[in-house]
Amino acid sequence: MYTRNLKHLDLEEDLRRAIDSDNFEVYYQPQVTLDTRTIAEMEALVRWQHPTGGLVMPSEFIQITEETGLIVPIGERVMEEACRQAREWRYQNGHRPRITMCVNLSMRQLQDPELVDKVERALRSASLDASELKLEITETMVMEDEEHVIGILRDLSALGVRIALDDFGSGYSVLNHVKDLPVDDLKIDKSFIEGLGENTVNDAIVRLIVDFAHTLGLKVTAEGVENHRQLASLTAMKCDLAQGFYFSKPLPSEAAATPVATNPLWGVPE
Ligand code: C2E
Ligand code: MG
Ligand code: MG
Repeated sequence: MYTRNLKHLDLEEDLRRAIDSDNFEVYYQPQVTLDTRTIAEMEALVRWQHPTGGLVMPSEFIQITEETGLIVPIGERVMEEACRQAREWRYQNGHRPRITMCVNLSMRQLQDPELVDKVERALRSASLDASELKLEITETMVMEDEEHVIGILRDLSALGVRIALDDFGSGYSVLNHVKDLPVDDLKIDKSFIEGLGENTVNDAIVRLIVDFAHTLGLKVTAEGVENHRQLASLTAMKCDLAQGFYFSKPLPSEAAATPVATNPLWGVPE
């Protein structure tokens, strides 16, 4: 326990220093429209460039930043940087199909009374249109404090940004609540995509989520698509978008600029 607490404190101290020295980097992962094989969206995913430990993944540090509240300043930087990057790509590739930038939000950020102002500020300082930004929240966040979250989502929607429900199906099922939520998209959790095309029960669940979302007028993205078998199943089910290593891993901004610039001619494996 003692060592654990010490480790926790070390990590927290390291994270505070990382905020001061701006050691976070944003990676981008394409989300592809299945019909046209065009990149419709890029998801911004934070990485921590540790001075001695190399690149640290969110699974190693996001939870502690949520517990300590450090996710608020980190999330703000990710939002600002992602908006700036989206504007730069649009400027460089004006004639290409527009790409929406997707940014993950944590519960702490939803509880921040200044969130809506911060989102508005990030859009304004990047000269990005609100319709080009999408915010991802998880169903667990909705379940934690449904009324409050719905209120914030309404305020965010009023700005013109879109909202996606991330990791859908992984937490408490909010099937019954989804119809009341001001969300535009569902992202099916990768745990359901893993066995697609191999397991009939799993296929039935994914088909059910896709049909359910369409009935509510929502678009569906499948997360964690890694192979052609999964892609073929999703296409047959009329899933709208897919994200996963099959198309691309999350890339640092310089590397992500290439698929953005060649979109939709980007060589997607058949
Ligand atoms: P998420 O929002 O569900 O993001 C998708 C995660 O799935 C990413 O992990 C991505 O790298 C991974 N992924 C994408 N395609 C595949 C695939 O084909 N196979 C497998 N196995 N994984 C795939 P990542 O970047 O490690 O992020 C993990 C989580 O950390 C995110 O899940 C999100 O909840 C959180 N996160 C990341 N960046 C931020 C951020 O800026 N703010 C907040 N609040 N949370 C963030
Ligand atoms: Mg996400
Ligand atoms: Mg997810």
